[in-house]
Amino acid sequence: MRMTRNAFLRSLAGAAVAGDIMGSGPAAMLRAQQAARSPARQTRITQVEIFPFSLQVKRTMHIAIGNMAAENVLVRIQTADGLVGWGESSPFAPVTGETQETDVVMGRRLAGIIRGHDPFDIPRIASDMAAHTPGFPSIKAALEMALWDLCGKITGQPVSRLLGRYRDSFETDLTVYLDEPQVMADRAKEIVQSGFKIVKVKLGETPEKDFARMGAIRKTVGDEVRIRIDANQGWTPAEAVRALRGLEKHRLEFCEQPVVYWDWEGLKYVRDNSPIPIMADEAVHFPQDAIQAVRHDAADMINIKLMKSGGILQSIAIAQNAEAANIHCMLGCMSETRVALTAAAHVAASQRAVLYADLDAFTEHAIDPVIGGMEVKDGTIRIPDTPGLGLDLDPAFLRTLRPA
Ligand SMILES: [Mg+2]
Repeated sequence: MRMTRNAFLRSLAGAAVAGDIMGSGPAAMLRAQQAARSPARQTRITQVEIFPFSLQVKRTMHIAIGNMAAENVLVRIQTADGLVGWGESSPFAPVTGETQETDVVMGRRLAGIIRGHDPFDIPRIASDMAAHTPGFPSIKAALEMALWDLCGKITGQPVSRLLGRYRDSFETDLTVYLDEPQVMADRAKEIVQSGFKIVKVKLGETPEKDFARMGAIRKTVGDEVRIRIDANQGWTPAEAVRALRGLEKHRLEFCEQPVVYWDWEGLKYVRDNSPIPIMADEAVHFPQDAIQAVRHDAADMINIKLMKSGGILQSIAIAQNAEAANIHCMLGCMSETRVALTAAAHVAASQRAVLYADLDAFTEHAIDPVIGGMEVKDGTIRIPDTPGLGLDLDPAFLRTLRPA
C-alpha cells in the first residue's frame, strides 16, 4: 500500500508538529510584520550526492531511434542547516548523448561547482555548469531541480509558486510504443479504459507499417479519443509528407519530430505540406534552438524536456521564446520517475504557452519510489501544494541505493 506524503511526514515528525498551529489576531500580525522586516534566511550547500539507479520496466519501450530504459541518476543536495533537495536525471544517449555512467562522472564534477553556494544562486550555478561543459543537460537538470526543491523548502512554497503559477492542473497523454498493429491497438484501448483521455502513438518506421498501426488503433479505440503521434525522426521529408497525408483521416492532434533533428529545411518542408500540425522535439534542446525553429518557420509547436534543456530555467526560456513567437509547447519526458516528472509538472503549471503534456514515463516502471509529488488521476495531473517539489523518496527504496 502506498503511504501518503502527510502520513509519511507525520511518521517522521510525530504528532507534535501537527498540533503546532499559528494563532491569529494582533500578536500574530506583529510577528508577521517583524518577520517581513528581518533579513532573509541564508544557508549554504554542504553536500551533493549522486546515486545511480535502474528500474525494471513493464514492457519494451521501442521507438524509432532505439529502446528506452529507466537507467537514471538520483541527486541529493543538502544544506548546512540540514535541508535536503532532490533531483533526477534520465539520460537517453540517442538524444542527449548521455548515459547513466557519464552522468555519474559529470555529476560528481559539477557537484564541486555547487558546494558552498547559497541554493538561490541558481542562475550563477547554471552559468558555471554551462561553462564547465556545454553538454550533459540531463545531469545538469537533476542538480538544478534539487536547488529549486531546496529554495521551495527554505521559503515554504511549492516550486510552481516560486516560478509563478498559471494553472493548477492539466491533462497528460499516455504513450503506446512501437509494436505490431493489433498489439498497439490493444494497448491504446487499455490506456483509454484506465481513464486517460489522450493517447500518444509512437510511429516513424515505413509509412505503410504506420498506416496499418494507426488504422488498427482508430478502429479499436473509436473516433472520439484524442490521439497525437511521434515519428522520432524516422521519416525522410518526402516520406513524412506521404505518411501524414495518409494519416490525416485519423484526425491526429499533431506529429512530433517527423524528420532527423538537424534538418530544419526538411522540417519546414514537412510543415508546409502536412495536413497535421508539426511539433519539434529532438530538434529543440535549448532556448537557442527554439529561436532556430522560429527563424526557419519550421514548427507549429515545441516539445520541452528538462532532460534536453538542462533544467527548469532553460525550459522556461524555451517556453517564453515560444510564447513570444505565438507557438504552443508541450512538456515531455524521457524515462523519469515522479521526481523529475514532478519538476516538469511545476514548469508546465507556470507557463501559459504549455498547452500539452506527456509526463507519463513513471507508468511504465515496475515500482514508483516517490512519496507525494504530482498526482495523476484519469490523465489529469495535479501539482503538489507542499514546499519545494513536494515529494520524498521511499526510505525502503533509498536503502537499496549506493552513492557514486
Ligand atoms: Mg518526441
